[in-house]
Amino acid sequence: MGFYSEHDDEMEDILYSVKCERIRQEELKKHGEFEFTCADAAMPLATKLAVLVEEVGEVARALCDDESVDRLRDELVQVAAVSVAWIQALDKQEC
Ligand SMILES: [Mg+2]
Repeated sequence: MGFYSEHDDEMEDILYSVKCERIRQEELKKHGEFEFTCADAAMPLATKLAVLVEEVGEVARALCDDESVDRLRDELVQVAAVSVAWIQALDKQEC
């Protein structure tokens, strides 16, 4: 990007986690766990929203259940990965 931030390394770690989660989602689809991911244009918008809200709900559950920081991080990564998948679908539409 042409600039350096003292937070670059930690952001790289976080974005790598999100990328791994996106890959995991696509692997689950490939193995028949579900028909679509949010990256698929064929998934209705309402379903994408339901998936994202469900993931946000899992963040809330992790907080309410006083889960570990690792568990909370995993849930937040899943929220980010679902968001990335949805953005991928939007970007594909624009091409
Ligand atoms: Mg989750």
